[in-house]
Amino acid sequence: MKDYIELRSDTTTHPTEEMREAMGSAPVGDDVFGEDPTVNALEALAAAKMGKEAALFVPSGTMGNITALLTHCKRGDEVILESECHIYYYEVGGLSALGGMVPRSVRGENGLMDPKQVEDSIRGANIHYAPPALICVENTHNRGGGTVYDLGRLAGIKDVADRHGLPMHLDGARIFNAAIALGVDASRIASYFDSVQFCLSKGLSAPVGSVLAGRRDFISRARKYRKMLGGGMRQAGIIAAAGIVALEKMVDRLAEDHSNARALAEGLSKIPGIAVDLSTVVTNIVVFDVSKLGIGSDAFAERLSAQGVKMTTRPPYKLRAVTSRMFTAEEIPIVLEKAAKVCSGFLG
Ligand SMILES: *Cc1c(COP(=O)(O)O)cnc(C)c1O
Repeated sequence: MKDYIELRSDTTTHPTEEMREAMGSAPVGDDVFGEDPTVNALEALAAAKMGKEAALFVPSGTMGNITALLTHCKRGDEVILESECHIYYYEVGGLSALGGMVPRSVRGENGLMDPKQVEDSIRGANIHYAPPALICVENTHNRGGGTVYDLGRLAGIKDVADRHGLPMHLDGARIFNAAIALGVDASRIASYFDSVQFCLSKGLSAPVGSVLAGRRDFISRARKYRKMLGGGMRQAGIIAAAGIVALEKMVDRLAEDHSNARALAEGLSKIPGIAVDLSTVVTNIVVFDVSKLGIGSDAFAERLSAQGVKMTTRPPYKLRAVTSRMFTAEEIPIVLEKAAKVCSGFLG
């Protein structure tokens, strides 16, 4: 059992008992030959959930995104994305290092771009410019604080993309959190996109894996890039089995993570020295600011950790708490008490 309170990330979720059982008894084959029945079943299920023709099981969200970008773009192409999105901020520059692509970043509000900004970022034909080839959207937006694009905004961006003949990729690592926040089916969100990547390994609690979904011809080209990246796996049904349980059993409970995050954020906002923009707390991520204490993120996180509560930092002055199955409602008052204790050491 853990002897601390876990709020660093929803990636820390352990597989459920049901997942372990499914993994232990999964029928398997060689997936590089397309012969693993459990991987095939997961891909069919994931495609159906996204409303897409086909899907591809990949080891990580990062590989899902770079596989999608390589399939959509060629070297020298420009990719339009939000300035703090995961693809740009946390994927080691893979789009440039591996794909020779040029990022063109748009600064959103709490991670959310509006259609006009996207349109303004698209430059016309000119011999000097890298040609725009793809628009990426992240929903929910991680660094934005788990913020959600509503369908109207997505429709607006899709309209811009269509007028300029550009495909759209969704980094939907947490698409089911977005779907629950909007009260719509995940396939409604995915419908605006040519391709979508989502994670099985975050709140959905599978130990490993993400899925890339799209049209059949797109996915068969993506399969080749996955192989190039070293992502061709063999008896991967062992891990895909957990992904099936994740999709069938673990989606609805994400609502609980959202209500826990909201209660945590409201409690934190009442602690002197902590500032939270409550309008951004709509899913399972809480970002808050400690600059009024006169200390930085790392100092705050260290003291909180010494009190038994783990969060990640957003230097210089912010911290991030992510709710998941590894965190329960009973722990909320304990976190608030510990956070207040840390703050009181720096006030007055
Ligand atoms: C977690 C995450 C990913 C993928 O992460 P991996 O650790 O590579 O699985 C991609 N995009 C967003 C927005 C994420 O939060």
